[in-house]
Amino acid sequence: MRNKVIAGNWKMNKVLAEAEEFVQEVIKKDPADQNVEAIVCAPFPFLATLVQQTRNSTVKIAAQNMHFAENGAYTGEVSPVMLKDLGVTHVVIGHSERREHFAETDETVNKKVNAAFEHALTPIMCVGETLEQRESNETMNHIEEQVSAGLKGLTEDQVAKTIVAYEPIWAIGTGKTASSSDANEVCKHIRNVIEKVTSEETANQVVIQYGGSVKPANVDELLAQSDIDGALVGGASLEADSFIQLVEAGKK
Ligand code: PGA
Repeated sequence: MRNKVIAGNWKMNKVLAEAEEFVQEVIKKDPADQNVEAIVCAPFPFLATLVQQTRNSTVKIAAQNMHFAENGAYTGEVSPVMLKDLGVTHVVIGHSERREHFAETDETVNKKVNAAFEHALTPIMCVGETLEQRESNETMNHIEEQVSAGLKGLTEDQVAKTIVAYEPIWAIGTGKTASSSDANEVCKHIRNVIEKVTSEETANQVVIQYGGSVKPANVDELLAQSDIDGALVGGASLEADSFIQLVEAGKK
């Protein structure tokens, strides 16, 4: 049985005091358990504080991006070594907003995914199609390309530990959710692609999240699908109450 993994992606929101208040509220409930993980993907300046605050809780702290190099002349970038040193456990790689606004490509995503494992960080690798691609029936091919390019060079064990987030771009921040059966169809396709490059046993271990306008009102239906093992949540992860409800949905 795969665990459920609920990750809140705050994007570029909150100031430190708000971030601390959120985390205090969540750890009071400590909603995660052995079957469901709760991850907060926070902006870089909050990571050190949030890791300290969640130390004795089940909440894990993730970064929203990183560079693939360990160090060097990359002004403004943050390395996997720095994240690991802080106690960060996960890192979002290749979110569609980074692919769109910051020139991330399948190649940089792949370098970052490999770098994450070299530093014992778990990557949450995002893939997803545009509305145009969906309407011209290119979704499955596009996803196959993104998944196989992103996982290149990993051992089977590393693939098994990768979290893949399927986020159709047209559903992000728009209030439009993919129907649970459409979302499941793509998540199942992702698992088949992974099986092709590894094995059935490995593919069955990979946690595949759905993301795109997930909220407490639609999370149950999404998580009830055979191949959806969690959610990557933007807007509905900004309030502690709503985030707690999403994590609790993972227990059902
Ligand atoms: P959303 O964002 O839940 O606000 O649609 C999801 C994401 O971008 O990860």
